Amino acid sequence: AELRYHVQAARGRRGRPEQPRAAAYDNAGTHAVRVADGMLSASKGRLKESEARRAANSGSSTRNGEHGNFVSVAQLLLVEDDAAIRGALIRALTERGHAVTSMPSAMDALQHVLDSPPDLILLDLGLPGLGGYEALRMMRAVSSVPVVVVTARDNEAEIIRVLDAGADDYVIKPFGAGQIDARIRAVLRRAAQGGPPDGGELEV
Ligand code: CA
Repeated sequence: AELRYHVQAARGRRGRPEQPRAAAYDNAGTHAVRVADGMLSASKGRLKESEARRAANSGSSTRNGEHGNFVSVAQLLLVEDDAAIRGALIRALTERGHAVTSMPSAMDALQHVLDSPPDLILLDLGLPGLGGYEALRMMRAVSSVPVVVVTARDNEAEIIRVLDAGADDYVIKPFGAGQIDARIRAVLRRAAQGGPPDGGELEV
């Protein structure tokens, strides 16, 4: 309920904030795309290595004190420039057992994905500089980390464009904490099932 309040408050402050902001950042965005492109092509090999490491470790584990079982904690990367929404999401997701790292810009997020790929990325579309959509396309060129887009843009064409660019799911603000958590768990489940395990044989 608190998260819904923050998201609605953020919307109220700026009306429909994403479109005008995106337009205002167009020039900065073009430059950002060039910079990010160079960054990604320079580190493609390194990314493959770190993704392989991530697959080998398959998330971090913490001991559940009561029964001594190991439960997996999902490492989430939240990319959101609105501080109020960022704070509310971090609280809501941490309370639900996720480990959350957050970045206010897509450029920072790309660098983070290259250095230590998370289990899942929550990506806002209306970001300063490099936009969420461009960041998603760049990420998909080098990484298969699950991406859930979190945005106020609710038009059909935009949703289709983002899913076609490689997003795994799409959540429209405002939403409740329960819904985003359920979508994260659903995407993580599918990601965990994706691809045969080591040496697995695929019967046709
Ligand atoms: Ca935004």
